[in-house]
Amino acid sequence: MLYQKELSTALNAVQKASVLCRKVQKALVDVKAIEKKDRSPVTVADLGSQAIINLELLESFPDDPIVGEEDAGILRDNAELRRQVSDIVNEQVDTAAESRILEAIDIGAGDSNLTKRFWTVDPIDGTKGFLRGDQYAIALALVDNGEVVLGILGCPNFHKDHNQPDNGEGCLFYAVKGEGTYVSISGSDARNRISADMVTNGKDARFCESVESAHAAHEDHKRISDALGITLPPYRIDSQAKYAAVACGNASIYLRLPRTKAYREKIWDHAAGSIVVKEAGGQVTDFSGRSLDFSLGRTLEKNVGILATNGLMHQKTLDVISEVI
Ligand code: AMP
Ligand code: MG
Repeated sequence: MLYQKELSTALNAVQKASVLCRKVQKALVDVKAIEKKDRSPVTVADLGSQAIINLELLESFPDDPIVGEEDAGILRDNAELRRQVSDIVNEQVDTAAESRILEAIDIGAGDSNLTKRFWTVDPIDGTKGFLRGDQYAIALALVDNGEVVLGILGCPNFHKDHNQPDNGEGCLFYAVKGEGTYVSISGSDARNRISADMVTNGKDARFCESVESAHAAHEDHKRISDALGITLPPYRIDSQAKYAAVACGNASIYLRLPRTKAYREKIWDHAAGSIVVKEAGGQVTDFSGRSLDFSLGRTLEKNVGILATNGLMHQKTLDVISEVI
């Protein structure tokens, strides 16, 4: 199989980062949500998770660029926070000095040389869900020549039974191009191949969307789902766990229309999720039916609106979108 070493390195990195995040979420009362410049909450877990993943990648693939959501700026002038991040990181990796941890986090902050092969990481996708004690994902993907070839979603609270979605046993979803999508349940070595559902009409379909109404236009999603004849209530779940839900048949459609025309989706919010859905037999495009283009830097500059489906509902949903939106 292609990308064997990449897969084992990345799985190991995401597993370690998941352990860190799970510990911090459990002790959430102690988590300090610090305001980043863009006012989104960031925690020691975001920074610790990015540090672990980057340290592991740097060890095995020192020449690969990494694009990550976080940078270490906030740690440079906060010794207490630096110590906290260093402590939780060093529980999971061979001892790394504080300076090495800062360096590793910052490696992800650049965007140079993203034309050939690079990794993209969202150390905690869905930080708001994480802080609420809900769903979040540790997302890592490898992009080669503009195409996602490997993706991993660590979902420490995910439950494959969508009737009890929260605080599940934890699932790790992963996909390599051409090899299918697999899930393993926390604490077990077993892995199972998964596929999107076979739903072909709105009557039997469920769609998922963000919990945060600021992240997507829920009213437009409702117009689309009504036009498709969907009667089940929307499945609101934070993070790329939405892609996981489509990949394992918990939902048939994921809709994400930004609130403003100017918003461009970040590559780390979609790279891993998109291959997890595609390799499970689903389809992922923007709202115009175009493929997501990961070759344009840190954002999906040319794509507006994200549509992920089981494949069978894709064209029908695009048709409805073009009528309704
Ligand atoms: P979700 O949990 O699906 O709502 O998405 C979480 C992601 O939404 C974060 O990783 C952010 O990168 C992204 N995000 C932040 N602000 C916005 C926005 N205004 N519109 C769309 N996505 C956003
Ligand atoms: Mg994110």
